[in-house]
Amino acid sequence: MPNRPDDQPNDPEPAARKTLGKPEQLPHLVSDQDVEDADDMLFAHPPRVVRRWVCGCGADYPCTDVLFARLVKATAEAGE
Ligand SMILES: [Zn+2]
Repeated sequence: MPNRPDDQPNDPEPAARKTLGKPEQLPHLVSDQDVEDADDMLFAHPPRVVRRWVCGCGADYPCTDVLFARLVKATAEAGE
């Protein structure tokens, strides 16, 4: 399934800024190539929504009880 959102989120705030107190120093510390690489990185690592199944008992589905019950039923059906 292709996962390439057209509206790619663009963080206007460079990550390097968090460790630096003075944003005006950024042009000297981050080269154009770095920015280009960062763009490629962001493009290659888009956020994705993962659907999780949660069991009625609160655990990830299938929980161990469900797995066990399935095993019991599969075994019973195989024995018929
Ligand atoms: Zn459960």
